[in-house]
Amino acid sequence: MHCPFCAADDTKVIDSRLVAEGDQIRRRRECLSCKERFTTYEVAELVMPRVIKQNGNREPFDENKLRAGFQRALEKRPVSVEDIEATINHIKHALRATGEREVGSRVLGELVMDHLKQLDQVAYVRFASVYRSFQDISEFRDAIERLEAEPKRERDGAV
Ligand SMILES: [Zn+2]
Repeated sequence: MHCPFCAADDTKVIDSRLVAEGDQIRRRRECLSCKERFTTYEVAELVMPRVIKQNGNREPFDENKLRAGFQRALEKRPVSVEDIEATINHIKHALRATGEREVGSRVLGELVMDHLKQLDQVAYVRFASVYRSFQDISEFRDAIERLEAEPKRERDGAV
């Protein structure tokens, strides 16, 4: 692995551990030339089902798009990057577990909704308002106000 700082050929692994529930290996590396340290992630490449869009077009499952969607929905919400990554992994597991070569975008949408609900209820309602479109704006506002009035959930015990 080339050093991203000086492009030297030799870097050594100084630490490696499993992350994302064992789906990734995180390695800390150090360049033997410039002594800079950097991190690499190793993941198994597995075939994901393709996504069937509403209009019938098929497209490859796009993890980056999914991640961007979660980041947008969870902007300024108290949810860690680790939790988002774990959620993305859960969704990928669920998609693979279908055993299908193609899944409807609706299936993916419902998976996202279910997981978002567990991560953050306010973000869930925001996303749901777009995804399922509330009847009217007051219904949306009422739902958000109800959620914000609830006492903060204890997160430590959450799965
Ligand atoms: Zn270097």
